[in-house]
Amino acid sequence: MTLLDGTARTIRDEIAAGRVSATDVCRVFLDRIGAVNPALNAFNLVDADRALGRAHDIDRRRRSGDPLGPLAGVPIAVKDNMNVRGLRTTASSRILERFVPPYDATIVTRLEEAGAVIVGKTNCDEFAMGSSSESSAFGPVRNPWALDRIPGGSSGGSAAAVAARCVPVALGSDTGGSIRQPAAFCGVVGLKPTYGRVSRYGLLAFASSLDQIGPFARNVADAALVLSALAGADPRDATTADERVPDFTASLTGDVKGVRIGVPRAFVTEGVDDDVRHAFDRALDALRDAGATLVDVDLPHAKYAIPVYYLIATAEASSNLARYDGVKYGYRSPAAKDEGLKAMYSRTRDEGFGPEVKRRIMLGTYVLSAGYYDAFYLKAQQVRTLLRRDYDQAFKRVDVVAMPTSPTPPFTLGEKTGDPLQMYLADVFTVSANLAGLPGISLPCGFSQDGLPIGFQLMGRMFDEAMLLRVGDAYERVTEWSTKAPSSI
Ligand code: GLN
Repeated sequence: MTLLDGTARTIRDEIAAGRVSATDVCRVFLDRIGAVNPALNAFNLVDADRALGRAHDIDRRRRSGDPLGPLAGVPIAVKDNMNVRGLRTTASSRILERFVPPYDATIVTRLEEAGAVIVGKTNCDEFAMGSSSESSAFGPVRNPWALDRIPGGSSGGSAAAVAARCVPVALGSDTGGSIRQPAAFCGVVGLKPTYGRVSRYGLLAFASSLDQIGPFARNVADAALVLSALAGADPRDATTADERVPDFTASLTGDVKGVRIGVPRAFVTEGVDDDVRHAFDRALDALRDAGATLVDVDLPHAKYAIPVYYLIATAEASSNLARYDGVKYGYRSPAAKDEGLKAMYSRTRDEGFGPEVKRRIMLGTYVLSAGYYDAFYLKAQQVRTLLRRDYDQAFKRVDVVAMPTSPTPPFTLGEKTGDPLQMYLADVFTVSANLAGLPGISLPCGFSQDGLPIGFQLMGRMFDEAMLLRVGDAYERVTEWSTKAPSSI
């Protein structure tokens, strides 16, 4: 096995044992990025000098016998909507093309304290709005399994980077599926933690009541390792919860005997591609054979999740994105010089934002406006509560709820860009975890007939990521999907 195929855990252990240096590990992954990124466009920025400098620090610490963190020397990529001090954060938008943040996101501080080596920032949908990574101002990301396919979105660059062995682990953000869906489309593991589990300080806000940061990895054990480093209360983010953070790797017992898995059959019937349904059913069979019990559950309001999500997410986005005005951050239209303040705002935003971001700002402004607020925004909040109650009911009877991550395998570049509604419908199975605040994990569970990755999703009780990781790890032990790598790149 080469270093590129190593997991975060094996790489860390090799470095800690002195069998390989962090600097050599870093070079190997940087070379890989250099070789494949021109085809994938997964990275907006790679800072080799910074990464090698950090790797060198790890090697020095090891030589002098200083304690090494749980991710010591592990190369990691961070989605380009999280701040790393001194590196550009663009959110894949023209409006922030040259924005250099003066501070680190809390997750960056925590990763670096754990010894991780940040190699670069990954491409994504503009401001994380999308399901295909095609709304990036810097060109689309391509799927390493088939270059004519999208990698999913919005964290498509992070998913593609992990699948293509550019990094063993990466971070994404998930507002309505942006970690889980690209993980499924790229054949890797993606975990969205419970709302409040991981600090969002330094994450560019999209929809503040839905956003969470989480890891992409090639197996569940690595996702557990990274989550352990990220999780926990942060005085800089008042929405983080003061919940005990368990040692997530200790939950990987391999045993699912007696675990009750809820399957919302009525919800999973409509519009699901045959290959996806087949792979999902086989995944459930494997879990049952491993000792879990399958239980039918009902989520009567799940069918409203898409409209509810696209009302709430756009409303929050329209408010959050008001700060990009040409005054405080980023781009300012040069044409606006002599035309006054109002023209400066409107030209800056017109030139700086792409079409999907504008669509969402307009939609969100509309649903929040006087006269429409009650009919749309308030109604959506009420249905959000009903949806959350559906899950409360289900979790009285089961430990996890399972469903496909996406109704289809990865689609072709350009296939849905002309029809935003079709793009939104691709999120049918992922948005409810965000609306209810629940943790969700996507696990590779097979391939379509044309060899494209398929994933399935487990959702858990609030703050019970340990259960998701335990079931996911047990599933991995009885299947072989997580060992597959794309051969075309
Ligand atoms: N695809 C969803 C959207 O377009 C989710 C995005 C996300 O999770 N950031 O809003």
